[in-house]
Amino acid sequence: MCETSWQVLSKGKDLTASSKLNMALDEADAVLIGAGAGMAAADGFTYAGPRFTESFPDFIEKYRWLDMFQASVFEFESLNEEWAFFSRFVDLNYMSQPLGESYVRLKELLEGRNYHIITSNADNAFEIAGFDQDKVFDVQGKYNLLQCSRGCSLERFNNEELMKNMIEQQQNMKVPDELIPYCPECGASMELNRRNHTDWMVEDDKFFKDQKLFHNFLDHNINKKLLILELGCGYMAPQVIKHPFQQMTENRNNALYMTVNLKDYRIPPAIRERSVWLQEDIKELLLNVQKEQQFTKKKTYETEY
Ligand SMILES: [Zn+2]
Repeated sequence: MCETSWQVLSKGKDLTASSKLNMALDEADAVLIGAGAGMAAADGFTYAGPRFTESFPDFIEKYRWLDMFQASVFEFESLNEEWAFFSRFVDLNYMSQPLGESYVRLKELLEGRNYHIITSNADNAFEIAGFDQDKVFDVQGKYNLLQCSRGCSLERFNNEELMKNMIEQQQNMKVPDELIPYCPECGASMELNRRNHTDWMVEDDKFFKDQKLFHNFLDHNINKKLLILELGCGYMAPQVIKHPFQQMTENRNNALYMTVNLKDYRIPPAIRERSVWLQEDIKELLLNVQKEQQFTKKKTYETEY
């Protein structure tokens, strides 16, 4: 049996999804959040649809790509063409990506709470929404950074100025030779800082500092009532957030695993009693949670005065 009782498990069964999340947030001493592609998609930051087709009509005509995921792992004819694509990709998914409402709402809901975030998204969403960057661990890299494709040094380089120049100077889906970046150490071609199919990427001091802050949070809250909240993590790379979160729930008797996802992903039997699956649209859910909190605050105010 679980040692710590969560009221949301015993009394929350008939509540709406937003009330369940509200209740869990209020009961928790600490909140660990994992954000995946579904969180980004909630605010329209998807890899398919008009966002993709309007940014890459020339590439789509040539290669018949279905979405940006397929495009981002494509074998290009040349580095000139590859960077013509990736400069626009970085602009779309990082430099010009607008502020996401759900991220702003999440930040407001977490205000004054003891929390930490790990995200598999390499976009700018948490940064632009004004989250304390010491509370966000970008475990899968960042689109505004470059790495040596051979990984000869543990350094990551900001690419924003270069990407702007590439966007301005590209013609017929090719950037000029002189803009193609090569590693200053070994001369190998550079690439975006993201994990490849073998799970490798360059991890620098900043990465290790963020990783340490993440582990510190977990250590400091080892005996606390921990809400483990998964927002839109699918099965693209379950080893990054989903599986560690489920393992953590199993190892900590006082943890509650809450997963928000439209799809029904398998929850291991060992943690089912301490799991809540909210089959909800993240944007709508966060909006409803916020509305409920405002209503509660208003009621408290009316009772007190
Ligand atoms: Zn190198």
